[in-house]
Amino acid sequence: MQKTGPMSIKIPRLLIAELITHAMQDDPNECCGLLLGVGDEAVEIHRMSNVDRKPISRYTMQSGELVAAQEKLKETGREFVAIYHSHTFTQGYPSKTDIANAVKVAAISTRHVIVSLVEKSRPVVRAFSINGDAEVTELVVETDGQPYRASD
Ligand SMILES: [Zn+2]
Repeated sequence: MQKTGPMSIKIPRLLIAELITHAMQDDPNECCGLLLGVGDEAVEIHRMSNVDRKPISRYTMQSGELVAAQEKLKETGREFVAIYHSHTFTQGYPSKTDIANAVKVAAISTRHVIVSLVEKSRPVVRAFSINGDAEVTELVVETDGQPYRASD
C-alpha cells in the first residue's frame, strides 16, 4: 500500500478503551504513553510515566522509559505509531506547549493522540499530525468494527 501521508490513524476499539482507562486512572494528572504498531496502525499501548513537575497540565516522558521502549521496538519489529497523552481540564486539541514539544520529537513520530476528559462521562479521543514546522492537522481515527464516535 502506497503511503500518502499521515491523514488517518488506525486504533482498534480495545486500544481506545485502554487509552481512556489510562487517562481516567491518572486523572487529574495527565497520562502519557506510546502507541506501537506498524505504519499508521496501532496494535499495542505502551504506558509511560509522566515525570513533569506540573503533571496536571503538562507531560514529560521519563527518558529511561523511552530508551526501554526503543529497545522493545528493536526486539519486536514494531514502530512508533503515535505519542499519546491526556487533557483532564481542556478539550482534546494540542496546546502551545504540546505543539512546541511535538516539533522536537517530529523525527520520532508526528502523530499525537489526545484523550480529553473535559467531560468526565464522555471521554474524547482525537488524533493530530504535528510536523517539524509546527503545522497541526487533525487525523481521522479509524477503528475496527463500528466507527469510533466520541459520544458512544
Ligand atoms: Zn496536551
